[in-house]
Amino acid sequence: MLKVHPLQIFCPPLPIGCVYVGSGSVSFGLKPSVWLNPFAYSEEYALSLGSYRSFARIRPDLRSWLAPLGKASVVVCDCNSRSCGCHARVLLKLVQENGTQIEVCAVPELGDDRDCPEFEPGEAECDMVGALGSRSSNETTRGINVQKSVGYPSSWSLVISDVRAAPQRIFWEVFAGCAILITMFLERNWCCGPPMDVEIDPTFKLLNPAFLCVLLGLIFEGRVALLHVAPPCSSFPWAVNRWWRYAMLSRACPEGFWNPPVHRAEKVRLGNALAEFSLKLFRAQEKVHGWWQWEQPLDCLMFVLRDIHAFVYRVGVYLSEAYVSAFGAPWAKPTLIFANCEAILDVARASLNGTRTLIYLVGNAPCGRKWTAVAGPYWLEFAREWAKVWDSALSSEQVLAIPQVAGLQCFDTFPSLESRLVQQGFQPSG
Ligand SMILES: [Zn+2]
Repeated sequence: MLKVHPLQIFCPPLPIGCVYVGSGSVSFGLKPSVWLNPFAYSEEYALSLGSYRSFARIRPDLRSWLAPLGKASVVVCDCNSRSCGCHARVLLKLVQENGTQIEVCAVPELGDDRDCPEFEPGEAECDMVGALGSRSSNETTRGINVQKSVGYPSSWSLVISDVRAAPQRIFWEVFAGCAILITMFLERNWCCGPPMDVEIDPTFKLLNPAFLCVLLGLIFEGRVALLHVAPPCSSFPWAVNRWWRYAMLSRACPEGFWNPPVHRAEKVRLGNALAEFSLKLFRAQEKVHGWWQWEQPLDCLMFVLRDIHAFVYRVGVYLSEAYVSAFGAPWAKPTLIFANCEAILDVARASLNGTRTLIYLVGNAPCGRKWTAVAGPYWLEFAREWAKVWDSALSSEQVLAIPQVAGLQCFDTFPSLESRLVQQGFQPSG
């Protein structure tokens, strides 16, 4: 019978039969486990267990993921007491639910679309079914629907292999928009991860917990040297909230007013969710001792949110205030950049007073688009100077160190058998 024991009761090394499922322990020499709870740093731990459970259940590889636990006798977690209520309990329950059928290398049981009442076979599907004899469902035909059933888009796999293929730790931009900052970092010789934005690929949706897990996983692997997140201002811009009639929230009530009209409530909910998910990414990045920077327009109220306020206003976090007009832009657009590295202070610029008239970003531009949209992307010269302040970081250990390998291994990145034999000086006989 599988049991949960806290790490506390052991001395290193862990005995045989124990499987560690926590987020890593230096004193035990334990790396972060593939079963760790990526949501553990959200404010409500109890809620995180729910997210963990749903995340586990939608995993396409659930059974192979659980398989090593099925073979273990004790699951070891990070808790301090025997009566822990952590994700290890969730794992235990999952193993019990799936336990009897667990085998290493088990073919995951995929739902057969044909059993679904709304299933309509596509063209290719009909051919295939015809060729194989109708209604036949063996291992081969079951594979046909993998894409449809699993809900794990191939674009995510591409992101994972892209990030893992980088020869050094990367600069990664989430909510990249038109990816101006990435272009500038590439110009300064950074390795950059693929830009993440729903505008670029509709499956890059941070509000999808499974996708958030993909990002968190790569961050926890230590692949990211500098994480840049600038969540859309959504319900937070001052441009909206300074008008009492349109306001959705205020400095005194940044989580949003009570009883707003439905469409406004939705926007507040979305804005809060994006802010909260960004915070999860930043916390993960800090946990693996990586750099992060968080940019928002000066008048955006996002930094007033309680948890975010506590995260950015503390020792070790630096704040730069830059007026884009100082970089030649025709509007002032003061911008705040928080970062956990002093280098960011070098991009701070005061506004140029009185030298020329600046455009006030309200209403429409001559082209008919809103001024806020026109001035949305980073001003080129500003982005260039911004990338430059990180130059000194490029040669540091934080960028050049080889990332630790955790999580699911990506086998095609390992050397081939031949090259390994050559490397070891192995002489085949006969
Ligand atoms: Zn525990």
